Amino acid sequence: MQATDYIIVGAGSAGCVLASRLTESGKHRVTLIEAGGSDTALSLSNFFIHLPLGYGKLFYNPSVNWMYATEPDPGLNGQRDHWPRGKVLGGSSSINAMVWIRGHKADYDEWGAENPGWGWDEVNAAYRAIEDNEAGADAFRGQGGPLFISANRTGLHWLVDDYIRACGQAGLPYNPDFNGEHQEGAGHYQMTIRKARRNSTARAFLRPAMKRGNLQVVTRAQVTRVLMEGRRAVGVEYLKDGQRHELRCRAEVILSGGAVNSPQLLELSGIGNGAHLQGLGIPVVLDNPNVGEHLSDHQGINYTFRMKVPTYNDMLRPWWGKLLVGLQYVLTGGGPLSKSINHGGGFFRTRADLARPNMQLYFQAFSTLLPKAGERPLLTPDPFPGLSIGLSNCRPTSRGSIHIRSADPLAHPKIVANVFATDHDVQEMLEAVKYLRHIAAQPALAGLIAEELRPGPAVQSDADLIHDFRQRSGTVYHHSCTARMGRDPAGSVVDARCRVHGVAGLRVIDASAFPNLIAGNTNAPSILMGWKGAEKVLEDAR
Ligand SMILES: Cc1cc2nc3c(=O)[nH]c(=O)nc-3n(C[C@H](O)[C@H](O)[C@H](O)COP(=O)(O)OP(=O)(O)OC[C@H]3O[C@@H](n4cnc5c(N)ncnc54)[C@H](O)[C@@H]3O)c2cc1C
Repeated sequence: MQATDYIIVGAGSAGCVLASRLTESGKHRVTLIEAGGSDTALSLSNFFIHLPLGYGKLFYNPSVNWMYATEPDPGLNGQRDHWPRGKVLGGSSSINAMVWIRGHKADYDEWGAENPGWGWDEVNAAYRAIEDNEAGADAFRGQGGPLFISANRTGLHWLVDDYIRACGQAGLPYNPDFNGEHQEGAGHYQMTIRKARRNSTARAFLRPAMKRGNLQVVTRAQVTRVLMEGRRAVGVEYLKDGQRHELRCRAEVILSGGAVNSPQLLELSGIGNGAHLQGLGIPVVLDNPNVGEHLSDHQGINYTFRMKVPTYNDMLRPWWGKLLVGLQYVLTGGGPLSKSINHGGGFFRTRADLARPNMQLYFQAFSTLLPKAGERPLLTPDPFPGLSIGLSNCRPTSRGSIHIRSADPLAHPKIVANVFATDHDVQEMLEAVKYLRHIAAQPALAGLIAEELRPGPAVQSDADLIHDFRQRSGTVYHHSCTARMGRDPAGSVVDARCRVHGVAGLRVIDASAFPNLIAGNTNAPSILMGWKGAEKVLEDAR
């Protein structure tokens, strides 16, 4: 192993961007350590990474996925939730649903109010520099940056137009760009898809950087703790091929392991709740009980309808349909395999007096309620034309936590999701599912729908609707804030430069460092973390 200036732990959405930006000038040697394997080695999992619709095959695939489970959650009627996280170059950007949403302007003004440099104007400038947006450049969209964003306007299922018209009839007008001036409305999602292939951060940022001599990437190597000398990080310990290794660095260690693994690594390294660490026999380097707390996440539910008209189920289920869409993809680069299943979506307010949208919509001309015997749900299209309209909350007030259970670095941490723990979250979801039904009842959709299958027309009372979403909802995979940024160490883990409070030479740069959860999907803000975090690192190196 060559001597290195920076060690980045985790090649995910943020880590790949960091590796790219820190090696750009050629002045710094960087080592990126990733627990998962390469995303380009010949394997079926990697095939499904690059085929956009293939992510449906990765939700339960341990070769590229950490496969976490939450504790039984009272908010989910005592059930556990399944938490996929990417474990491969590109991290969760290699297994996600590719929707490109930045969040609401006001979210970033909240970030910036306490954290200098993270307000909307600074963040918008960074997003414009990151993007190569097919929809063109304007005051919000960027062109010429490293990350191609597909406008996703062609080859969509025709039912998207009916959905958008139904939203208009329900009082939610068309919005041509959720990442523009206004977030509210119904429309199409922009996608991290380029030339009919997933545009993960491994593809857009890491591969070009890997041509540089000053970046070394170590795969299938799991960092087990940060090496500390007093309160200074000096390197990491990692396991590769069953062997324990140590790597020291001249400058800094940067944790980009994501919202589950970064707090886990901090705790394994003696940074966290002192009493908890002592109880596990881990010497305490810094007592900060915020590590692993403030867990924020979006919770989603699908309403599913049997349609009178064909949906993707009719193509994606029978063998001849699979053959046809496969041929369509190979010969034209188009068809359903070339896209995420979420062709459209939207943002709405559950009450008119709210200042900004508090709910997000997902439209899928597809349904999957009936897995084959022994097969996981999510994978099999139903044997009838089905359609799903999903929604998730934007700014939930329930908070969970992630903490290690033992000093064993290979043991999964204890995840307490604690969803729907506040009346606020329950009430707004109740209002939201009623509005979802209101959309489906509009003339543009109602005549095409044969029946509502889930939850079904018998579920009408508030109590039944609440029971239903506690029973059927799940994470939409936006875990964040577990090493949150803030001015005051009494309420946060890192400062506005992503430096761990009270410790030298150590930063956290990934979704765990979000000060608050933004309204929307979290790949864009994780990439933003990597992009702006790298600027802070480089400024401090001067
Ligand atoms: C199934 C799914 C669907 C999603 N859909 C969308 C979507 O459509 N749009 C959207 O915007 N967001 C989506 N998200 C969320 C988004 O992808 C994540 O929020 C984002 O990728 C998080 O980035 P990150 O850098 O914080 O962590 P990650 O991208 O998860 O990266 C962390 C990396 O660190 C590695 N790592 C962890 N611990 C260690 C260790 N100890 N040693 C070495 N390496 C380690 C991991 O293997 C991983 O590669 C989805 C997520 C999932 C899982």
